Amino acid sequence: MTKRVSIVGGGIGGMAAALACSRAGTLIELFECSQEFTEVGAGIQMGPNVVRVLEGWGLKEALSRVAAFPERLQVRGAHSGSELGALRLGATAVQRYGAPYATIHRADLHSLLRATLTGNSDVQLNLDSELVAFQQDASSVTLQTANGHRVRSDLLIGADGLWSRVRQQLLDDGVPVSTGHLAYRALVPQKVLPVSLRSQQITVWLGPQLHVVQYPVRGGDWLNIVAVVKGHMVGDIEYWDHTANVVKLRRSMAQTCGPLRELIHAIEHWRLWGLSIRPPARGPDEFAKGRVALLGDAAHPMLPYLAQGAGMAIEDAQMLARVLQEDSLPVSDALMRYANARWQRNARVQARAIRNGEIFHATGLIRWGRDIAMKLLGERLLDVPWLYRGPD
Ligand SMILES: Cc1cc2nc3c(=O)[nH]c(=O)nc-3n(C[C@H](O)[C@H](O)[C@H](O)COP(=O)(O)OP(=O)(O)OC[C@H]3O[C@@H](n4cnc5c(N)ncnc54)[C@H](O)[C@@H]3O)c2cc1C
Repeated sequence: MTKRVSIVGGGIGGMAAALACSRAGTLIELFECSQEFTEVGAGIQMGPNVVRVLEGWGLKEALSRVAAFPERLQVRGAHSGSELGALRLGATAVQRYGAPYATIHRADLHSLLRATLTGNSDVQLNLDSELVAFQQDASSVTLQTANGHRVRSDLLIGADGLWSRVRQQLLDDGVPVSTGHLAYRALVPQKVLPVSLRSQQITVWLGPQLHVVQYPVRGGDWLNIVAVVKGHMVGDIEYWDHTANVVKLRRSMAQTCGPLRELIHAIEHWRLWGLSIRPPARGPDEFAKGRVALLGDAAHPMLPYLAQGAGMAIEDAQMLARVLQEDSLPVSDALMRYANARWQRNARVQARAIRNGEIFHATGLIRWGRDIAMKLLGERLLDVPWLYRGPD
């Protein structure tokens, strides 16, 4: 029997799940609470582990049209401005890991996933459909939307993000906590920047108590910049797209080197994002129970300091499709197989992202040791083979 899958959430995770599961021959109904499919104006880095999955789904050509493929990731001291270390990407990443390292606008990634679903009669995308509750029994799961629909299916995937309602009902394990870090972000056409500030590589500027990441998107025509500083969000912590106070940001960057200050000052309009997390996953039970499973940020919200949150959602989708393809497996066994396959890798990425945050923002002796280690070890510190070689 063809499985009927309900997916809650139409972000990058939900779209990737819809695409992967439809390729696996299931019938999909996706429920997104917003009135339209949108993504905030920000960039996403994708390691070779993620690009390889997308290429496997036949998206290589589409990706090459909208993404950028930087040749190099460079780490610089935010105060000194000097280069601390670098990682070769481009052809080196392809040779090491079988796929390039890409940087892309979130909306472009979302659109190219969605485009593959358009016209597919096995996939129904529903907007303005907020999940309010679900019930499961031995033979099915029924979800209920705020506009009064009840939909029955064989399984339900909660891809509803950091503040997941599905997780709340499934695990009842509280809410994410604020990290005390604020992410200011901006996207600018490179042509409006002075030539000296334009760049086709990834640059990470390291603290103390702050870091900044910049990289090209939209085939290299635009530059994405994220500056992370200490601070608490005033206003709705669940909202991703607050107007930022540029004066506060510039004040946080007052001690940084000339080129970094110049970049920050060249941009007038910034958006603000308060970062919240949960601790790394502790076991497969946090990913699936019976006919319901979590995917993406709903399952494993993480700090963006390893640039893998959306990537892990895409890897989750690939594994979910693989287990659903096995017709002989009862649904709950298939979802437990998915949970077993995914939780440890995700927990490791979550933990590494937390550690990166401590290293990026280090002060005093730790900062000094970090800079020396990076100068001595360079590429060996910056490369992450266990991550980029996966998923298994
Ligand atoms: C500053 C920053 C930089 C980042 N950089 C990177 C990066 O470089 N690389 C990377 O891989 N990741 C990065 N990430 C992480 C990445 O953005 C997330 O991990 C990813 O977007 C999670 O996708 P998702 O689909 O799981 O959740 P979301 O994108 O949050 O999508 C959830 C969807 O569910 C919908 N929804 C919510 N509740 C309901 C409901 N009750 N009913 C119906 N629909 C609902 C929402 O409207 C939304 O569309 C970054 C994050 C931040 C904050």
